[in-house]
Amino acid sequence: MSVISKFEPSEPSIAVIGAGITGITTAYNLVRRGCKVTVFDRHPYAAMETSFANGGQLSASNAEVWNSWGTVLKGMRWMFQPGAPLLVNPKPSWHKLSWMAEFIAAIPRHEENTVTTVRLALEARAHLQRMAAEAGIDFDCEERGILHFYATKSEFEQAGKVSAMLAKGGLERRPVTPEEIRTIEPALHGNFYGGWYTPSDFTGDIHKFTHGLAKACEGLGVAMHMSTEVLNLDADAQGITIQHRSTQAQLDERAVHVEQSRFDKVVICSGVMSRTLSRGLGDRVNVYPVKGYSITVDLPEAADQQAAPWVSLLDDKAKIVTSRLGQSRFRVAGTAEFNGFNRDIRAERIAPLVEWCRLHFPGMSTRHAIPWAGLRPMMPDMMPRVMQGRNPRVFYNTGHGHLGWTLSAATADAVAGLATGLARVA
Ligand SMILES: Cc1cc2nc3c(=O)[nH]c(=O)nc-3n(C[C@H](O)[C@H](O)[C@H](O)COP(=O)(O)OP(=O)(O)OC[C@H]3O[C@@H](n4cnc5c(N)ncnc54)[C@H](O)[C@@H]3O)c2cc1C
Repeated sequence: MSVISKFEPSEPSIAVIGAGITGITTAYNLVRRGCKVTVFDRHPYAAMETSFANGGQLSASNAEVWNSWGTVLKGMRWMFQPGAPLLVNPKPSWHKLSWMAEFIAAIPRHEENTVTTVRLALEARAHLQRMAAEAGIDFDCEERGILHFYATKSEFEQAGKVSAMLAKGGLERRPVTPEEIRTIEPALHGNFYGGWYTPSDFTGDIHKFTHGLAKACEGLGVAMHMSTEVLNLDADAQGITIQHRSTQAQLDERAVHVEQSRFDKVVICSGVMSRTLSRGLGDRVNVYPVKGYSITVDLPEAADQQAAPWVSLLDDKAKIVTSRLGQSRFRVAGTAEFNGFNRDIRAERIAPLVEWCRLHFPGMSTRHAIPWAGLRPMMPDMMPRVMQGRNPRVFYNTGHGHLGWTLSAATADAVAGLATGLARVA
């Protein structure tokens, strides 16, 4: 394959690898700081991988990291139950084993990392709303809070301990009685011992937001190199060389050339591929792809729309989250599966999401529920990596796991500050 040198920019320039929520928010924060930005993504549009159909929650109240012996024991117990919220393929791999060892090693930092995550989530709220307002993005945002609900006293009390930890990070959430649960969300059916309600949390469609912000980036002069796969990154003292090829040319059965572009700096925002790209640069970002599933329930009739909730819900026992995306869509997401880069949508993992809807919203039809699976880019300690690489021209904004939608607006601002040395945009 021939290598063609594509362009050699004369001004300082930054490449962003990945057009998911982390990449697009990063590009926006960089261009607003006056940088010359180029985004690369192998898909033709932004937000086509994990940022496509997630749970929709912007949830500081879900900031508790999973590193605990309780999670380890549950994982072992659920290992052979096909519909369990957490599933681990027992086939060993070095990637999985090293990740799990680091997950266990982070258990002593459970509270510290939870508190840091809450703070980041709270900081992200203002950034996200600022970007949406500046770019005029309609992303089906619902500012109605998030309600966690519990069927038993012990589960409710355990959640109280989590609330105390979240409060250390500055989050206010309050206990609610079964009667208050009914008032907060009248559409929810079930017998509950109690709940915890966070009025300041909110929801929205990650795909709509990312797509809207990508358009705004283009308007501000960001070069969007879509349908372009990055094959290799080479960092030296003067800059970064990126080798890439068109994924469209492959489809069109045209000759595929490997092209080469040169930049001053690069920010890796490549989701579950960040580990591979970081290795080539001499860095270690041990992201594991933790699969999750969602269904998007169409609500065509007035009766379905009335029977579906507007307040976002979190069922801690089933590990299911929900968000109402406008009048006619309801998103239900959950489950964690350790099964490598497998992206199959498995019927036995989708069925519990549909059954959960039938249990809690019996008047809402599920006859048109669109299934989806995505890979969460999860670090073993559940903390996103916002950092400089071994080469000072390399930066990372990745590894946001189950909270990429919640946290990206803050981490994008942080990495743009780090890469440019410029304080935040007001
Ligand atoms: C079922 C489910 C529910 C979730 N619910 C929530 C929720 O309610 N709230 C919340 O905060 N978070 C939630 N998340 C997590 C959140 O969706 C993710 O953290 C976030 O989308 C990750 O964004 P990203 O930009 O890191 O990755 P991605 O969106 O996957 O973007 C990475 C991009 O990099 C590109 N790329 C990678 N390698 C290359 C290469 N070599 N060349 C070119 N392009 C490349 C990919 O094509 C991709 O577009 C959920 C996740 C799942 C799976």
